[in-house]
Amino acid sequence: MPEIDLTIITICSLTISALAAGYMLLLTKLGIRHPALLHWIGSCVIFVFASLLAASRLYQVTPLISVWLAHCLLALPPVLIATGLLRFFHGTERSLPTHLVGTAMAAYSTLLFFTYELSHSAPILTAVFIALACFWCIALLASNSTQRLTCGLLQSILTMHALTMCAEVFLYTYQWQTMPQGHEKVYLKLALVSHLLLTTIASMLLPLLLFMDRERYLMLQADRDDLTQLPNRRHFLRESAAGIDNNDGMLPTTIMMLDLDNFKSINDTFGHAIGDAALKKVASILKIELSQADFIGRLGGEEFAIVMIGLDEAGARTTAERLRQKIELHARIIEGKQLNLTISIGATFSYARDSSVFQALMKTADDALFEAKRRGRNRVIFDSSKANVRIG
Ligand code: GH3
Ligand code: MG
Ligand code: MG
Repeated sequence: MPEIDLTIITICSLTISALAAGYMLLLTKLGIRHPALLHWIGSCVIFVFASLLAASRLYQVTPLISVWLAHCLLALPPVLIATGLLRFFHGTERSLPTHLVGTAMAAYSTLLFFTYELSHSAPILTAVFIALACFWCIALLASNSTQRLTCGLLQSILTMHALTMCAEVFLYTYQWQTMPQGHEKVYLKLALVSHLLLTTIASMLLPLLLFMDRERYLMLQADRDDLTQLPNRRHFLRESAAGIDNNDGMLPTTIMMLDLDNFKSINDTFGHAIGDAALKKVASILKIELSQADFIGRLGGEEFAIVMIGLDEAGARTTAERLRQKIELHARIIEGKQLNLTISIGATFSYARDSSVFQALMKTADDALFEAKRRGRNRVIFDSSKANVRIG
């Protein structure tokens, strides 16, 4: 095989890795500063540097640099992909297994130091180390239950690379004594092409993991109320309206408006922080008491709303009263302060199967809430006058 092929593959491999490192560096400059990115950038930069050192063998550079040092560095990129994945999945709160990685690297480089002048020792040891690091990455990716497609693609390319490394080990071991001169270059090409594919695909997919994770986080942030982690007004109205629209049976809808009683005076007496804790407590009671299928939202301030589909009128009345009692019982004392927090609830019930009446039902529930306040608070007013509205 002509010499130029190997040179071209090496140049392509180096260029792609350098571009990938530059691309990820640009992402950090654009504000996507995830600690995982630094590991992945390091992986590309080290691969470029190690490949240049390995190529320097063609120019009679001492084997200590062109073989031993080059191979020591060539083993690092997949390890850095793995540590980057650990950072990506667990953030900075979990410490990296630096002890384990350091010991493995020290053992590998020492063994390599004493054997690198022996025939094919360096490529065999490096291939084994890289294959193990790839299997580590594959295992880490397997533990991620979200982003299955991207993780699956990454696992495929890592598996291919690990298998290439295993094939390399097999070929070198099998032909240890008999390998003709030129064949070494074929194996080098095989390994380089595999590296090239791994770097190219990993540099596209690893940032994609970050983007998708960020997108998911931002979507969640946009839909949630920061304090209580309940859906905010916009998300609640959208989701519950969709829930009513999707109800193609004849299931009735219950709508409740909830408002904490005399909350301003609780804030004035105990301070805003205790007020915040009370809001969180109420939200957690609502989450515990209601099912996953029910829609709960914080409409703003100390006001919450609930939409439940499928309860009959008696069930809806009982649920509203139960919520009132639970809050009276469990939000009596918050952070050691006797708040005696109570809540007023206005509720309504309808067989309407269309979200176009949703606003009207919200208004009815709101009026019922106003009536509950007027009658002295800490009570449920249930307006069933809209029960027989049927649309759709
Ligand atoms: P009522 O029983 O009639 O509902 O009286 P109220 O005092 O609860 O109602 P009002 O509307 O007068 O006061 C609501 C208070 O809720 C005023 C505001 O400071 C407080 N509040 C709104 N949002 C928050 C919040 O996020 N945290 C805290 N701590 N207080 C809040
Ligand atoms: Mg209010
Ligand atoms: Mg209030």
